[in-house]
Amino acid sequence: MKTNSNRIRIAIQKSGRLAEKSIHILNKCGLDLDLRKDRLLHSCTNFPVDLMFVRDDDIPEYVADGVCEIGVVGINILEEKYLSIPDLDKKCFEILFKMGFGHCRLSLAVPDDFNYISPQSLNGLRIASSYPSCLRRFLSENKIQCEIIELSGSVEIAPNLKIADAICDLVSTGATLRSNGLKEVTTLLSSEACLVKTCKPINPEPQLTLDYLLRRLKGVLMAQRSKYIMMNAPKSSIEQIKKLIPGMEEPTIMSLTDSEKVALHAVASEDIFWETLEKLKAVGASSILVLPIEKVIA
Ligand code: ATP
Ligand code: ZN
Repeated sequence: MKTNSNRIRIAIQKSGRLAEKSIHILNKCGLDLDLRKDRLLHSCTNFPVDLMFVRDDDIPEYVADGVCEIGVVGINILEEKYLSIPDLDKKCFEILFKMGFGHCRLSLAVPDDFNYISPQSLNGLRIASSYPSCLRRFLSENKIQCEIIELSGSVEIAPNLKIADAICDLVSTGATLRSNGLKEVTTLLSSEACLVKTCKPINPEPQLTLDYLLRRLKGVLMAQRSKYIMMNAPKSSIEQIKKLIPGMEEPTIMSLTDSEKVALHAVASEDIFWETLEKLKAVGASSILVLPIEKVIA
């Protein structure tokens, strides 16, 4: 039971790939966290928020049961655990937004010398995976018969140990696959960390805390994605420039002593790549600066 009625609980991975970045984003929201080791529950000292540190696999249940109002977990875990429940209400949580980290994909991989042509090439083989439900769905959609060898970890060594012919596992860079002599052949699912919220009723006071925190979280995530861009440009290129900058709202245009040119400032809602800078230069822009944004309130 919660001792203070306006407090909310957030389920976070205790240690692993999502842990540090989840904390980092909450810190960026201005939360002061008292992170003493080996405690399940950590209180935030300047905000009515408690963090519950658990295994990522348990996060959907804690949120669905309403033990935690929100949690940060990979879409891969949600898909695997709740695949068989198409009705979101029965899951009792909803995905609010993606968090911009923890990117990975659930892929099939085979030994380097395997002659893979299509998913049918796997017919009759043994596939090792920690994601049996996702794999079963893929096999049935592709009408393939395989034996699923369910493993809880180190799936990538299964072909070398001759306990499987192929694997279905999470991949980010692909380095682990390569070092085990495997090649990725098809992707079943693309994943990243997302924020899930319970569908259980929340009392008005914690709901206010939650609304406030969600506003900050959205602001931090938007700031992370956005860039501030400044440049000088010929007046005649303004329309071309507007089309080149991704997700830009109306730019601020200021006149310069050179009457043919203007200074143009804008917020782009996506990252700006070198290729875009080259294109801006090609339409006459100069002194182009791209700056990070610290905070945004939309
Ligand atoms: P726990 O002890 O919490 O169960 P774990 O071993 O299941 O930890 P991690 O390996 O830390 O989990 O991965 C946590 C999440 O990170 C994954 O569920 C996935 O969403 C994401 N992730 C991103 N890249 C990868 C990757 N290359 N391999 C595995 N997970 C990845
Ligand atoms: Zn896990």
